[in-house]
Amino acid sequence: MNGQTPADDLTVTDGRRAELAQNLAEVRERIASACAGAGRDPGEVTLVAVTKTFPASDAAALVGLGQLDLGENRDQEAAPKAAALRAAGIEARWHYIGQLQRNKAKSVAAYADVVQSVDRPQLVKALADAAGRLDRGPLGVLLQLSLDGDTERGGVAEGDLGALVDSVTSRPELALRGVMAVAPLGWEPDRAFEQVAALSAKVRATVPEAVEISAGMSGDFTRAIVFGATLVRIGAILLGSRSHLG
Ligand SMILES: *Cc1c(COP(=O)(O)O)cnc(C)c1O
Repeated sequence: MNGQTPADDLTVTDGRRAELAQNLAEVRERIASACAGAGRDPGEVTLVAVTKTFPASDAAALVGLGQLDLGENRDQEAAPKAAALRAAGIEARWHYIGQLQRNKAKSVAAYADVVQSVDRPQLVKALADAAGRLDRGPLGVLLQLSLDGDTERGGVAEGDLGALVDSVTSRPELALRGVMAVAPLGWEPDRAFEQVAALSAKVRATVPEAVEISAGMSGDFTRAIVFGATLVRIGAILLGSRSHLG
């Protein structure tokens, strides 16, 4: 995965394309029915296809199927994948959803449209400095919430959220778009997503345009939609199981 990936590496078999097309149709159908059940317009919910651990060819095939929003959680993997698609003239919107070290901020700011996992002021500074040196306009940012206060796994604790909002809004190189969260292990999804909705409202009281709520994965996205998710991050049921990778 070093250096440039030739564009021919982006081809998938007809079978794989058909499988992705079917999975995508099923996921979109489930999003639409969850929206219908919640009395929401399906146009309010954006599907982010989480392509982590899957090859750039799958990402390219998804874009070809009209699925433009792609999510990745490791820069070492995402940077060459984004470069391969760009080299082939394939325009995707990349969402960075993983824990992020400051020394990777420059790399991520170069291809990401949105960094969903912003959780501390040092990272805000690194991303803003990096975005300011690029000519791509403001970098979209979501604040990752730690719902159980266990910030080891990423996310800002509720008590530090206000200061983090202020640190982002003080930097014109960044655009605060909303919040992101992962339901803590062992929690009822509804408890998690209700809390996300409440914290989103708190952020919007200061920054009204920060309307995005990124919540819900393969196992719980229909509940997240009930509680107002505007972005759902879905990997396994779209691309397949990652379990063989450990
Ligand atoms: C991997 C990942 C997802 C997707 O999870 P699935 O269960 O495969 O749908 C969503 N969000 C984050 C932060 C992830 O790391």
